[in-house]
Amino acid sequence: MKEYDYLIVGAGLFGAVFAHEMSAKGKKCLVIDKRSHIGGNCYTEKTEGINIHKYGAHIFHTSDRRIWEYINQFAEFNNYINSPVAIYKDELYNLPFNMNTFSKMWNIKTPEEAKAIIKSQIDKLNISEPQNLEEQALKLVGNDVYEKLIKGYTEKQWGRKCSELPAFIIKRLPLRFTYDNNYFNDRYQGIPIGGYTQIFEKLLNGIEVKLNINYKDMSEEKIAEKTVFTGCIDEFFDYRLGELEYRSVRFENEIADKENYQGNAVVNYTDADIPYTRIIEHKHFEFADTAKTVISREYSAEWKRGIEPYYPVNDEKNSKLLEKYQALASERPDVIFGGRLGQYKYYDMDKAIRSALDTVEAES
Ligand code: UDP
Repeated sequence: MKEYDYLIVGAGLFGAVFAHEMSAKGKKCLVIDKRSHIGGNCYTEKTEGINIHKYGAHIFHTSDRRIWEYINQFAEFNNYINSPVAIYKDELYNLPFNMNTFSKMWNIKTPEEAKAIIKSQIDKLNISEPQNLEEQALKLVGNDVYEKLIKGYTEKQWGRKCSELPAFIIKRLPLRFTYDNNYFNDRYQGIPIGGYTQIFEKLLNGIEVKLNINYKDMSEEKIAEKTVFTGCIDEFFDYRLGELEYRSVRFENEIADKENYQGNAVVNYTDADIPYTRIIEHKHFEFADTAKTVISREYSAEWKRGIEPYYPVNDEKNSKLLEKYQALASERPDVIFGGRLGQYKYYDMDKAIRSALDTVEAES
């Protein structure tokens, strides 16, 4: 008999939900994290009376009612609706691509006018089956929107040419012909009042958690029947087949001595010449009434060992390498790989929870 049923490596969303549900079923869990705090990249921390999203903006959105009800057990959510704006040179546009965007770009008013302009641009391009993100974007919105609002941002964010990126990334972004600036099409959306960290405190309440511990530094002797690993799958196997690629993000945080810096939580800079991708002004997520404000400039960077991975790069090359790692993983029935890094998937928070709950069910 081992001391624990599950050793859960990583106190992020997948790990915390898994641990919570398994503990409720009477299983003995130990959660470890190499960081000094729980919550993974959802972690929030108060500065100047404002909850700061330390690892980038997290806006909860889902169409899955059960996931919405699940997360609402652990916090009360406000009515925040994400409506980012994009700045391209000296022009400002609403996102996602909608009638406000088109009206400003072409000085038109009706959906018919917008559709006619987009159609005439698409027809000239002659793309049948989009092979990459560039073709997909052009076929969706034509070249004006692509050049001003997609190309520069995407190439900064991914450090790769749009013509070398998979088409599915851009499908995350809605396109609509109504005057609606809601970035997401999902039924439910909001920010937990008081931040995300409380959700993890409640999820992990009563469960043994050890911080500042690296899985690789633990003694070889196995202490649990099974391990749930939410770090990078290639790292688990000591990169023996080579490294998967990730994108990382660097934040430059600033406390500005003014009440309101940019008037919106999210402002994207879509011009290739601006080095950062976006500026987050945290107080607008929770409508905080404070004299100062905290902003984070977000710089995208290629991942290398020793820095934090954020986004998997799900292109063809990495997908092939992933398959090889998954074959290795299938030889380890004692290990479950979960979350954005463990599964190398561009999961949103709701999908990470769904996947953790499904994994719990499959285990039971
Ligand atoms: N995107 C873009 N212009 C923008 C915002 C996003 O072209 O102003 C594209 C870009 O390729 C990005 C993708 O849409 O990688 C998904 O953006 P999202 O905001 O969903 O990414 P996240 O918030 O996860 O970083």
